[in-house]
Amino acid sequence: MQQGSINVQTENIFPIIKKFLYSDHEIFLRELVSNAVDATQKLKTLVSLSELKGNTENLKVDVILDKAKKTITIRDNGIGMTGEEVEKYINQIAFSGAEEFVEKYKDSDKKNAIIGHFGLGFYSAFMVAKEVEIISKSQRPNSTPVKWTCDGSPNYTMEETTKKTKGTDVVLHIADDSLEFLEESRLQGILNKYCKFLPVPIKFGTNERTEKEKDAEGKVVEGGKEEKIVEDNIINITDPAWTKAPADLTDADYKSFYRELYPMTFEEPMFHIHLNVDFPFNLTGILYFPKLKNNFEMQKNKISLYSNQVFITDNVENIVPEFLTMLHGVIDSPDIPLNVSRSYLQEDANVKKISSHITKKVADKLASMFKTDRADFEKKWDDVKIFVEFGMLTDAKFYEKAAKFYLVKSIDGKYYTQEEYLEKIKANQTDKEGKTVLLYANDAKEQYSFIETAKNRDYDVIIMDSPLTSHVISKIEQNGENISFARVDADTIDKLIEKEENLPSKLTEDEQKALEPVITEAIEKEKFTVQFESMSENDQPMIITQSEFMRRMKEQQAAGGGNMFGAMPEMYNLVVNSNHALIGEIVNEKDDTRKKELVSQVVDLAMLSQNMLKGEAMSKFIRRSIELIK
Ligand code: ADP
Repeated sequence: MQQGSINVQTENIFPIIKKFLYSDHEIFLRELVSNAVDATQKLKTLVSLSELKGNTENLKVDVILDKAKKTITIRDNGIGMTGEEVEKYINQIAFSGAEEFVEKYKDSDKKNAIIGHFGLGFYSAFMVAKEVEIISKSQRPNSTPVKWTCDGSPNYTMEETTKKTKGTDVVLHIADDSLEFLEESRLQGILNKYCKFLPVPIKFGTNERTEKEKDAEGKVVEGGKEEKIVEDNIINITDPAWTKAPADLTDADYKSFYRELYPMTFEEPMFHIHLNVDFPFNLTGILYFPKLKNNFEMQKNKISLYSNQVFITDNVENIVPEFLTMLHGVIDSPDIPLNVSRSYLQEDANVKKISSHITKKVADKLASMFKTDRADFEKKWDDVKIFVEFGMLTDAKFYEKAAKFYLVKSIDGKYYTQEEYLEKIKANQTDKEGKTVLLYANDAKEQYSFIETAKNRDYDVIIMDSPLTSHVISKIEQNGENISFARVDADTIDKLIEKEENLPSKLTEDEQKALEPVITEAIEKEKFTVQFESMSENDQPMIITQSEFMRRMKEQQAAGGGNMFGAMPEMYNLVVNSNHALIGEIVNEKDDTRKKELVSQVVDLAMLSQNMLKGEAMSKFIRRSIELIK
């Protein structure tokens, strides 16, 4: 028997490894199963190059749980290792990796950031095992099987052993503080998470089922015996959709793969993008567009990152631009460095390239969908809009491309590109300064009377109801020339789109001055500014507006992205139509009590049409209305 000491400076490397990776012990299985898969792939390569003779028919990895012995064995029929190879790969190379890791992160306060992203390899076994054995027989001709044992100290033993089959067994003697890993369901869960799409069948125990006896023709024998059938429990799909060529896949294949990824999601995705790049970096994957409606937080972080079919993480922040995290699916790239911290990832040139490539692909896909089948694109638009908006706000390149397919929806349900829409409204909705004003509502019901007023002027109104609206329109205004957005209730319609002609006011300045205090008394002074306007006599007698600027600042703050205006209290304008007959009557009313009553009534009606009349004010209004009708 050979005894040795692994050459390390740090005496107690294993307790440190254990402590560092505390919350993520489960990755030991990913590491060991990946090593086993690699061993089978290496064998395949060498055999195909005729450098080795061997059987590559039934390559397989077997995860064997023995509760009584408290062991987990990871068995493969791959390339195997000779004694010298164990010496080289396990004692020297693998260990230097572990040591480097500890050295690097010993004093790091960013432990959590690296957990699970540092492929610690073989030595991660010591996070859960008090003793590890490697029993291996190389595929090379005439090799002697060897057994290596290590108890987690820098000392190991190596001896010749007997092993009939070629390949490697890694046997973990599970430590007392890691007994949870001896639970079948726990292991099944870990395998499901990390190994579900590995390219070689992974067996974990067996499944039993019974089958009725059948005759020679395969027909069930009446009154025949029940036969027990024991089958390997293969936990993975070896050829997941993203590894295939798009031409070989049908729409149904993509959908069923989506269900494979998200068994608990019932909604079907709307469409997908198959990524397939081999230059200047390697990247494959399938991204799905879920139906987003107007909620975007809920859906985030559903993209899983794989490296050669090994699951790495489903937190792809910093790897793809933030707006893409609203998509679902998988990305597989061996070129993304996995063993580094997230802040480093952001700076990585490959990651940057990958990220801009995906952005481009996604924009191109949307553009081509718009071009090839506009009607279908419009049907999907309400569900992708928020995604597109998020992209436009955060990625300049995406903004440029999206300008061609970003649609606005008119109140009558028609969709227009920005260009088409400006063309449509330019003649009628350009103000005296030459600025084209896009009128919008975020709620057709709540802003009904304002929309009606706009329509009476033959103006068009669009519906902008996403939580990102205020950010998006500010962005479009910055990028467009001489355009501005205004919500229909941001001012009186003639102020929103100011034309040359100004109506004369029927009320004199003195009359306005006399009426103002009566109105002020009927409202909350801190919240409202009273303002007389000479509007059309067909418009409402009083309306309540809120300045576009203030409201937008508030909305932007609510959607994230603070500014000092956002923190200011809500302020409104109470606009009095100095040309309305009813206002004229109120001015001429001699009875002070009745005058006050009429003012209150008209103010309340204005409040009501903005959905602002609540509680006590509402019941006062109802009582007063009944009195007035009597
Ligand atoms: P990595 O896999 O990143 O190279 P590891 O520490 O996991 O690092 O493993 C070190 C080396 O040990 C591997 O590169 C491989 O050569 C060898 N090895 C590990 N597990 C096996 C196995 N099951 N069969 C054959 N060789 C193995």
